[in-house]
Amino acid sequence: MNKASISDLFINEISVDGYERVVEFKEAKSGLHAIVAIHDSRLGPALGGIRAYPYSTFEEGLQDVLRLAEGMTYKAAVSETGTGGGKSIIFADNKKPKSPELLLAFAEAVNYFEGQYICAEDVGITLQDVAQVGEGTPYVVGLPRRQSSGDPSRFTAFGGYRGIQASCQKLWGNDSVADKTFAIQGLGAVGMRLAERLFWGGARLIVSDVNSELVARAVKDFGAETVAPEQILSVPCDIFVPCALGGILNASSIPNLRCKAVAGLANNQLLTLQDGEALYQRGILYAPDYVINSGGLLAVIVELEPEGFEPQTARQSVDRIYDVLMSIYTLSEQKKQPTYLVAKELAELNLQEGRGRRTLAPVFHG
Ligand code: NAD
Repeated sequence: MNKASISDLFINEISVDGYERVVEFKEAKSGLHAIVAIHDSRLGPALGGIRAYPYSTFEEGLQDVLRLAEGMTYKAAVSETGTGGGKSIIFADNKKPKSPELLLAFAEAVNYFEGQYICAEDVGITLQDVAQVGEGTPYVVGLPRRQSSGDPSRFTAFGGYRGIQASCQKLWGNDSVADKTFAIQGLGAVGMRLAERLFWGGARLIVSDVNSELVARAVKDFGAETVAPEQILSVPCDIFVPCALGGILNASSIPNLRCKAVAGLANNQLLTLQDGEALYQRGILYAPDYVINSGGLLAVIVELEPEGFEPQTARQSVDRIYDVLMSIYTLSEQKKQPTYLVAKELAELNLQEGRGRRTLAPVFHG
């Protein structure tokens, strides 16, 4: 198997205001076309997943990677993970498996940053793909290996459950999910795991997914009700739980929401910051996405410690999402400010003051 050398890579540094590095990579033999964005590394090396998606234009991919990298900065800063914000995208046809050559060429792109960008799995990338990337670079986390955290979605889902419990506590003064109705959009890696936890907690579920097999499984296993994908945002429920797409909370969806809270795991749920304001004006409690979905990140950073990944440490760290969200809800009430703004200000304060900055160099066990 040929390993692409740096010299085989077409490297295009792009200058983008507010970003430290944005680099486009192409490699002819494997067909790699990727962008890596480092938004902010003041608190530590940028860490963020590799998203593979069939973007229809370069601009579409660029905008996505920029948004995702910035989101990682806030997620890391608010949770004090000692990492910065970064992300990568690969222009890819997700119907075809990714070739080892393409993933190794991508690994060379990661090496280009000499440890300032650490990659992991994301939508469109399997754990096997990540393992293949790990053959070509040490700067990768979440590998299916003993000292590595493996699949982050189990931690993300656990963190989501704790975040939902905090939201129940805030709404009803009791953190039980029993007899509450949750409308879940997306039953993938995190949505299905979260559905299962909610089911065992005694919740009623309404689910939707474009994949009918996943919907059928939730009906069979959890007695879930189902609605069509276009109805899930307006179905009456206690808590709406977005676990699929970004940008779903926007000027057209927010007026139709019939829930008391939005607490789900999808990234970049608010299309614009004004949408966070609109939720607040409607009296809908919003769990800022990068706080409630930080479980995967909190787990993977454990493996950067000298002793490597330790599940109990990771579980305890993810468990703190409950307290972080409760303090955001309390501050929001005290300051009469929307929760998205409270979270943003908290993250910005940590960035300015260097709170949670990594002091020891990360250890890569791959
Ligand atoms: P996934 O690809 O496994 O699942 C996404 C699911 O959403 C799929 O089942 C898909 O069919 C469904 N879907 C797509 N369009 C839909 C629509 N219009 N209506 C309803 N369902 C639709 O991805 P995942 O890992 O479960 O991640 C889900 C979301 O959570 C993403 O936004 C991701 O960025 C975010 N997230 C995931 C993790 C993680 O650890 N996996 C961590 C943080 C954030």
